[in-house]
Amino acid sequence: MKRINFILGVFFVGCLLGTGVLSAGTESAIKPSAKPDNGLAILMEKHSISHTTAQVTPTVCALAGIQAPETAIALPIRDVTDFWSNLKKKDGKPAEDVIEKALIFCPDATGNFLVPIYPDDWKPLFDSSDVVVKGTNVLPSVTPVCFGAIFTGAPPEIHGIRKYQDKYLPNPIKVKTLFDAFAEDGKKVIIISQKNCSIDLIFRNRPIDYISVKTSKEAVETTKKLLNEYDLIICYDGNYDSIMHGKGVHHPKSIDAMRDSIRWYFELVEAADSVWAEKNRLTAFIPDHGAHDTKEGKGTHGTSMADDAIVNHFYRLRSGK
Ligand SMILES: [Zn+2]
Repeated sequence: MKRINFILGVFFVGCLLGTGVLSAGTESAIKPSAKPDNGLAILMEKHSISHTTAQVTPTVCALAGIQAPETAIALPIRDVTDFWSNLKKKDGKPAEDVIEKALIFCPDATGNFLVPIYPDDWKPLFDSSDVVVKGTNVLPSVTPVCFGAIFTGAPPEIHGIRKYQDKYLPNPIKVKTLFDAFAEDGKKVIIISQKNCSIDLIFRNRPIDYISVKTSKEAVETTKKLLNEYDLIICYDGNYDSIMHGKGVHHPKSIDAMRDSIRWYFELVEAADSVWAEKNRLTAFIPDHGAHDTKEGKGTHGTSMADDAIVNHFYRLRSGK
């Protein structure tokens, strides 16, 4: 497993010089042609982190040999694409082989802030992933704004959702998504999520399928049953987020939900390995933001602070038998 977390001294030099171009720190994560003050760069700069969560879309497109949406200003994560190239070589696969199946599990609010406090729970995820990417999200660090960036590769000012309430607008995502890119390539795509949650609402009216369920557990079980039928599956788990908002980020019931997220992901990985054994495949654990407690002891998020802004994305790749 490879962990990526570069400290970017040079970044600040670029900022101080005020050169008007992207500083060294964002160069490998964001297109050089992007505006220097774009919404992906803000939190990378603040936390000296060289990756953005918006790199999910260009990375998954690159692995699948599909053109990323033109409006994506994030770039593929080199360590993930390099890992795939090396794996193909090791497994004696042709260099032109691409990922045929992808399962993206979205455990809401399970940010990096949980990792040092519950290391034993997170260790299996770090140990079993091929590449773990620590990245920053976008502002405000709330679900529809963050998943908007994750699944478009674009910051809020480009993808269209600038605040939480925008999720209720008709067709709030104004640009092409990862899902459009896959559908245009003839792939079958489905989003499985709880009814009326952000992910259930904001990506509607695309040539893909949607299943709205009542619970995260049901989303996971439905995903297992549908692996055979789809090429790209998004499985959303809002459990930790909804419990911590009511009880606080470290309440035993919240931590039970965090543990469920990790356990469910492993169940999905096992199911994908079985059903997709002959396919080149990706499974990924992709949260949107973290959280912190208010003075009253309730969980919240939306700020630029590290607890809200920094998340780990876990990538696992296997070539087909
Ligand atoms: Zn969220």
